[in-house]
Amino acid sequence: MKLVVTGGAGYVGSVSAARLVEAGHEVVVVDDLSTGHADAVPEGVRFVEGDIAEVAGPLLAEGFDGVLHCAAKSLVGESMQDPAKYWNGNVVTSLRLLEAMRDNGTQRLVFSSTAATYGEPEQVPIVETAPTRPTNTYGATKLAIDFAITSFANAHGLAGVSLRYFNVAGAYGAYGERHTVETHLIPIVLQVALGRREKVQMYGDDWPTEDGTCIRDYIHVLDLAEAHLLAMENAKPGRHSIYNLGSGFGFSVKQVIDTCRRVTGHEIPAEVAPRRAGDPAVLVASSERARQELGWQPKHEDLASIVGDAWAFASAGRGD
Ligand code: UDP
Repeated sequence: MKLVVTGGAGYVGSVSAARLVEAGHEVVVVDDLSTGHADAVPEGVRFVEGDIAEVAGPLLAEGFDGVLHCAAKSLVGESMQDPAKYWNGNVVTSLRLLEAMRDNGTQRLVFSSTAATYGEPEQVPIVETAPTRPTNTYGATKLAIDFAITSFANAHGLAGVSLRYFNVAGAYGAYGERHTVETHLIPIVLQVALGRREKVQMYGDDWPTEDGTCIRDYIHVLDLAEAHLLAMENAKPGRHSIYNLGSGFGFSVKQVIDTCRRVTGHEIPAEVAPRRAGDPAVLVASSERARQELGWQPKHEDLASIVGDAWAFASAGRGD
């Protein structure tokens, strides 16, 4: 297939673009480099630098089979302080993309969505039919885009798939996490191991969990990329399918830090800090639907191997 990957200079976008190319697809990356890195665009891939809202129309007029839409603003804290940036950057931009797809007859859309669309869960593991009550603006904008995709599938026959990611981690060779403002647990802990930070703060140790720290479902970025491939291949015209992507196993903040200590061989000082606003105690995915309907099989579920790949990337200086 001939595919556009938006946000292909970012973490998930670059790994997914690399896997799509390896699977024999022709890929063009679009990215405005607001948070991405030009050198993360996989080799041999055409790169269009620019704002998706402006670039999508002329590019899609060249004739494409589908779009993998990974470009987004994705910092929860920032989304609460500057909501307009998120409603514009995520919702308005995605609407322009959907219009350009409609106008140019681009059939398939795979959309990067998030567990943040669910908010505080009533039950874990979380299934796709669970109530969607986002507790932050970031999650609300992703949910709004899901509604738009459903409308376009119904009205225009779009073949849409939304993938709701849980905690993405790990790296794939030269492709990994390189955020200017790092807020995610594993890269922060590895920065402590590298001596770039003094210690890691654990946001609360009085949560209703066994060791008192929050539990999350960590999924290897390469398993996520495979799901994108399968989603693109299985997208059905006139249908909007939604899949949760996680490993189905939860690990506490303390367990993550301990695993990082074992994998890196570094002491990694940690201290308890106040809870972070908007954090649910436990987030674990049920990915049964993706397994059954897409035939998705995560291969890197072991937390030590996820951390090991992230460590290989970070300790080679690639996370800078
Ligand atoms: N966390 C932490 N210290 C940090 C960063 C994160 O204790 O410096 C915790 C956070 O409260 C959450 C878990 O680690 O319970 C995963 O957070 P992250 O930001 O990586 O992903 P999120 O679950 O928010 O998408």
